[in-house]
Amino acid sequence: MRTDVLVVGAGYAGSVVAERLASAGRRVLVVEKRSHIGGNAYDEYDEQGVLIHRYGPHIFHTNSRLVVDYLSNFTEWRPYEHRALAHVDGKLLPIPINLDTVNGFYGLELSEEEVGAFLERVREPRSPVLTSEDVVLNAVGRDLYQKFFKNYTRKHWGLDPSQLSAGVAARVPVRTDRDDRYWTDDFQALPREGYTRMFEAMLDHPNISVELGVDFREVRELIQAAHVVYTGPVDAYFDHRFGRLPYRSLRFEHTHLPGTPRYQRVATINYPNEHDYIRVTEFKHLTSQEHPGTSIVREYPRSEGDPYYPIPRPENQALYRRYQSLVAREKGVTFVGRLAQYRYYNMDQVVGAALKAAREILRAGSV
Ligand code: FAD
Ligand code: UDP
Repeated sequence: MRTDVLVVGAGYAGSVVAERLASAGRRVLVVEKRSHIGGNAYDEYDEQGVLIHRYGPHIFHTNSRLVVDYLSNFTEWRPYEHRALAHVDGKLLPIPINLDTVNGFYGLELSEEEVGAFLERVREPRSPVLTSEDVVLNAVGRDLYQKFFKNYTRKHWGLDPSQLSAGVAARVPVRTDRDDRYWTDDFQALPREGYTRMFEAMLDHPNISVELGVDFREVRELIQAAHVVYTGPVDAYFDHRFGRLPYRSLRFEHTHLPGTPRYQRVATINYPNEHDYIRVTEFKHLTSQEHPGTSIVREYPRSEGDPYYPIPRPENQALYRRYQSLVAREKGVTFVGRLAQYRYYNMDQVVGAALKAAREILRAGSV
């Protein structure tokens, strides 16, 4: 079988590149080993009719106008600002840590002006800041580190914060005001009809065919393509030649609670110190859906299973760099996305990377 471009994976990376190249007149075949498009952002109505995210809560937020403008071709938006609480010492306190978290945790009544000086006293200055432990100790000191970050991180990654790069914990800011939003990005919204609808619109192009339930490994010899765009795990592409790149997985436990219009106060509650799961998310907060019941998901981290997170730490980066040397030599193939670039990307960052990859493919002119 012949095509101009073969795209492996129908998540953000694959769908954006497919759409861009199809719109530029190329014939694109997308193969996706799962039974659906959308990758990990896939959403669907559960049996009781509540819109849920099969692979855990996905909240779109970005500062990139380019990315918003691009995706707005395929969806309208419903504004949504995410908020989370952490269950610590029997209390529900805002996470990211803010003024109310510090006051609630220590039983204080500090003002915005005073909390800076307080954190200055309790923080443990670190220089250089290399690990996730350094980041948190450096910002808020040991008490808050132990209760909010240490055990959550050990559960999430199966590693101590001291074994993870600084960038992991640095995703979560520390604030001295009362802003309790998870992010402060300019644009925070969810696709009005859901992520899957947005992906359907993106892939609905006469030049695109999508084959679901097809693993690239089984068809790579059968399809002749002038160019391949690969968005799966980079080590799998090269048959794990240098050994397996570690990825972290999760098990998602979805539950519907009939006759319970609302389960918890905010969309997500994190459990740093109890339970085998890290957090509980109630989807109706994200979607504003009206329904007499509600649906929640608990996320249980694990090492086996689908690869969801690259694990940012120096030895993994070193192994990834060895794969990168193979990537550089692999002519006619573009590697893009969270798994293919082994980067802890958010959705908007994947869209940005995919738009760039598509431009480069077209500029190179080989297809
Ligand atoms: P993926 O979505 O993983 O898509 C890759 C696709 O390739 C998959 O569908 C896979 O089945 C397919 N594939 C792989 N190998 C093959 C093969 N051999 N043959 C055929 N198909 C193959 N980001 C945010 O911005 N906000 C959030 O709130 C957020 N929450 C998240 C929560 C969780 C629990 C997780 C795991 C991620 C979250 N993310 C969030 C990150 C977001 O999911 C990713 O950035 C994004 O989905 C990555 O898109 P991708 O196309 O690179 O990869
Ligand atoms: N984190 C933590 N406690 C929390 C929230 C986050 O220790 O209550 C740490 C943890 O290591 C986590 C990282 O910060 O993996 C990044 O958190 P984020 O919410 O961005 O994770 P994601 O949404 O990608 O799962």
